[in-house]
Amino acid sequence: ETGEPLRDRDGEGVGVRVIHPLRGPRGINGFLVFNCDEYAERDQELIAMLLTFYKNYVSLLEDSQRDKLTGLLNRKTFDDRVLQIIATVRAQETEAAAGHGYAMGVLDIDHFKSVNDRFGHLYGDEVLLLFARCMVEAFRGGDLLFRIGGEEFVVVLKDVDLERARIVFDRFRKIVEEFPFPQVGKLTASIGVSLIKGGDLPATIIDRADRALYYAKNHGRNQVQFHETLMTEGEIGGKKAQDDVELF
Ligand code: GH3
Ligand code: MG
Ligand code: MG
Repeated sequence: ETGEPLRDRDGEGVGVRVIHPLRGPRGINGFLVFNCDEYAERDQELIAMLLTFYKNYVSLLEDSQRDKLTGLLNRKTFDDRVLQIIATVRAQETEAAAGHGYAMGVLDIDHFKSVNDRFGHLYGDEVLLLFARCMVEAFRGGDLLFRIGGEEFVVVLKDVDLERARIVFDRFRKIVEEFPFPQVGKLTASIGVSLIKGGDLPATIIDRADRALYYAKNHGRNQVQFHETLMTEGEIGGKKAQDDVELF
């Protein structure tokens, strides 16, 4: 699991240096460098023990950040990751890095409840798993993929502007539309998107994307809607929950 040890003589045979690569989920994270007089059995046992600790540590860390069903990032890591991105955006905004923004999309399977109702919860879970696989295949390595709720997924696209994000999310929408879900057949998804700004909070971005999603759900589903576009076109208002009765 940790690869072959590399040995080389240190000086004039005064000791041995053993180097072990430390592997994480995305490749080698670092190296354990161990200098010893001779690579005795005791040293080997100690190294083996350290490597086991490290392996357990990495997998615990990894498990706590990922959703068990789909393997995507979970809700718990969402705020941390998005806060990091907001800080990056804030730092870049002064340089006006065009095409290097971030867009957050909320992806929601259309009429998913009827999958559960018609085929049962197990088939529902299978659909969620396959949907997540489609996400992993469709989006790029640098994009962040979350399952934040039962059938709610979030994607944060890196290095995009609005036009690029529209193309990427629409491509994904088409992939889902074409995907033959075993037994269940064809499904569609609606996607609400908003661009991430330097002054945002994770919850405010989600809120904007959610409102675009809500619009998509009310206008035929199986479509991608941007909060920014809907605002410009006057399709939705600036104030939160404009349609709701306000209580004073
Ligand atoms: P819409 O097109 O408006 O999104 O309709 P919908 O049926 O997808 O939406 P709604 O939010 O009403 O229903 C979501 C359903 O997802 C309800 C819930 O039972 C189901 N669900 C939530 N989490 C899970 C899960 O982990 N596994 C399964 N199988 N179903 C889940
Ligand atoms: Mg839903
Ligand atoms: Mg749904």
